[in-house]
Amino acid sequence: VNTGSKPDISRVKSAELYEKSKTYFPGGVNSPVRAFKSVYGTPLFIEKGDGCYIWDADGNQFIDFCGSWGPLILGHNNSKIREKVTEVMQNGMSFGAPTALENELAELIIKNNRFVEKIRFTSSGTEAVMSAIRLARGFTGRDKILKFEGCYHGHTDSLLVKAGSGLVTFGETSSAGVPKSFAEETIVIPLNDTAAIEQAFAQFKDQIAAVIIEGIPANNGLIIQDEDYIHFLRKICTKNNSLLIFDEVITGFRVGFEGAAAYYGVKPDIVTYGKIIGGGLPVGMYGASAEIMSHISPDGAVYQAGTLSGNPVAMAAGIATLTELNKSSFYKDLNNKTQDFVASIQRFATARNYKFKVFTVGSIFWFAFTDKDKIQSADDIDASSMEKFKIMHRELLNRGIYLGPSGYEVGFVSAAHTKIELEKAKRAIFEALDL
Ligand code: PLP
Repeated sequence: VNTGSKPDISRVKSAELYEKSKTYFPGGVNSPVRAFKSVYGTPLFIEKGDGCYIWDADGNQFIDFCGSWGPLILGHNNSKIREKVTEVMQNGMSFGAPTALENELAELIIKNNRFVEKIRFTSSGTEAVMSAIRLARGFTGRDKILKFEGCYHGHTDSLLVKAGSGLVTFGETSSAGVPKSFAEETIVIPLNDTAAIEQAFAQFKDQIAAVIIEGIPANNGLIIQDEDYIHFLRKICTKNNSLLIFDEVITGFRVGFEGAAAYYGVKPDIVTYGKIIGGGLPVGMYGASAEIMSHISPDGAVYQAGTLSGNPVAMAAGIATLTELNKSSFYKDLNNKTQDFVASIQRFATARNYKFKVFTVGSIFWFAFTDKDKIQSADDIDASSMEKFKIMHRELLNRGIYLGPSGYEVGFVSAAHTKIELEKAKRAIFEALDL
């Protein structure tokens, strides 16, 4: 399909690597979205990253707005992270025993966060959420979990569930291999719908252990909820003795040091973090009040463990990253820079009457081919608009701009993006919109 005005970049080496990788991995990848199934061309094999740039195997250079799907808020190959990690690595990679580095990262988090008193490190966001769900069930003695359509919480069985038909139903599995009986413990309702959640609590009285929501839903487009709605969730959970879990794997340390909880001024009962907390290495975390966390083994009866949990090298990356983020104007600078960037893209599109909106919060943005001013539930997204994203993605790659390879994915601006790169990116985006 030739829809563009620029010749396609060479992907000869990436294509060769992809042919080979397909012989080793299902779909040639170790995580499905990487396979470029929703956009044109073969996946790019990345060789190197530095600051806001990445280079692929063919030597193409891109300004990166994917940032490894969120963790790289300081950009690629940040010297402070690299130096700290290199220093810690000299003493060995893993002990499976406590180290002072775990205390150091925990202190950095807990001292600067009003929402957690005790925490546990895991090795991924999925693991953090899976453990948080088990904790909520263990703490409340209840089995059911309520989640929202359009929120992604990693690939744990009970959350790979999509909405069934009807307002409040048991969910249906959205992956083969998830037993129907597991999905039956998960209730799925639309976002931004107070009636649906009231009905769920009425229908499943005293059965719902927890309501889990992405702090700001950012895995199915950016579906920003009204503050009132989030406060309503807090109230209805409290009233029903259910826990409110904020999955802040994306929003934690992204929209601010204290994530979406501070953004909304709502105190969740359990919070999960991932991505940024490990500065590019595998770290997840869940945390809560000391009372709730006392239910975790070995203090309590809820079992959770990990061979590489609190891994010293990963802790070092987390410490170096959060130390930077904790500096006084970090978020103000990053968020202002992002907001200027997206505002001028929106002005451009509006002036030309394009059906195109940039939804944004902090340093997160999402390009939507729509004329709607608000998108607050998964149903508000027109699936056919993804064809337009597909073309835009290709045009942007041809102009040296890398976005995540799906129109449902958000983009991230990092501290390493300077005005120069943002100007360059804007010009490329304007050209792509004009096609
Ligand atoms: N929760 C949210 C909100 C996420 O965005 C993700 C991953 O994108 C996860 C959980 C799972 O994290 P991980 O991919 O580290 O397992």
